[in-house]
Amino acid sequence: MDLSKRIQGLTGGGSDGWDVFYKARRMVADGTDVIELTIGEHDIRTHQSILDAMHRSASGGHTGYAMVPGTDALRDAVAERLTTRTGVPTTRDNVLITPGGQSALFAAHSAVCDEGDVALFCDPYYATYPGTLRGVGAIPRAVPCHPENAFEPSYADITDNCAGAKSLLVNTPNNPTGVVYSKDTVEGIARACRDNDMWCISDEVYDTQIWDGTHISPRTLDGMAERTLVIGSMSKSHAMTGSRVGWVVGPKEVITHLVTLATHTTYGVPGYIQDAATFALGEGTALEQDVGAPFERRRALGKAVIAKQNAVSLVPSSGAMYMMLDIRNTGLSGEDFADKLLDTHHIAVMPGESFGSSAAGHVRVAMTVEDAAFETALQSIVDFAKEIEP
Ligand code: PMP
Repeated sequence: MDLSKRIQGLTGGGSDGWDVFYKARRMVADGTDVIELTIGEHDIRTHQSILDAMHRSASGGHTGYAMVPGTDALRDAVAERLTTRTGVPTTRDNVLITPGGQSALFAAHSAVCDEGDVALFCDPYYATYPGTLRGVGAIPRAVPCHPENAFEPSYADITDNCAGAKSLLVNTPNNPTGVVYSKDTVEGIARACRDNDMWCISDEVYDTQIWDGTHISPRTLDGMAERTLVIGSMSKSHAMTGSRVGWVVGPKEVITHLVTLATHTTYGVPGYIQDAATFALGEGTALEQDVGAPFERRRALGKAVIAKQNAVSLVPSSGAMYMMLDIRNTGLSGEDFADKLLDTHHIAVMPGESFGSSAAGHVRVAMTVEDAAFETALQSIVDFAKEIEP
């Protein structure tokens, strides 16, 4: 029996640059001690107080179907959070609760892209982006971003590639680079969207992890609230990756349609998960800071190691849980560097090429092991780069 072209074409074919990741996983399964700095997941688990709230809710009976758009309490909490953090008045009518940011990305693009529409995304990019865009029937088109500009998309980068495009997907703080887009960059994004009548899908799942500078949401700029869909999630801010709870925030009319989409796809998010998320947001910024603090510490440790040598340089990251290293001096591709590093030092990092062709010659290091081990691993990466420098 034939399967749909859409489902078969989801990955786009070809090598996806994840070979090193799977090789590391096989080594671990075979008993090798590998330091894995690959996936963006905390080395701590969800805080006990959030689990207690989840338990209270489930034992209290909130295990039936929950409201499809999200519970009023969680939608209100998300709305209040965005109003407070960005100054853009937001109410529950602007919020759809989704099973994680990933599902929110899919929903947002479903709302704005028709079959065959061009949907832009910035390269380097979070690995699922092109497949998500294909999944809604859109044609993904990369906006190449440049290392000289810390991989931030300029107005020209966007407009050079936006002919006929319906939407632009941006991500700040950025995965894989850890860069927090500057005011100039976000203004350029907004101007490009307004000038070319594009929707802006703004992936802000790392918005609580800012180690320098300020996070600016494109939704806050002139004329943008009506054309921006913000993607949020409890995964990174509250170490709730496994709970699958996130949101889309946007104009009321879009959310009304997305509630209909949710009715026909996910049928909402479990009530006890939503209650746990409501509790977590109610705890304010202290809990978010606790969750983010290890990454801020490790980034400082990592920066100190990098500052002492010239073999690799650091993309000026200022947020999220990643450091992106420029290893072009070694003459190796990111893939070869990561592969040899894994073989010789049993340290697994992600080749830049896994995140698109713009980040070739780079590797992404996730700051997801405890401080001392992270510092030692980074020192080994730097020493390895020095050894192989031509
Ligand atoms: N956007 C970005 C940039 C991410 O890095 C991730 C997860 N790694 C997601 C969205 C999706 O996260 P989740 O579905 O867990 O909310």
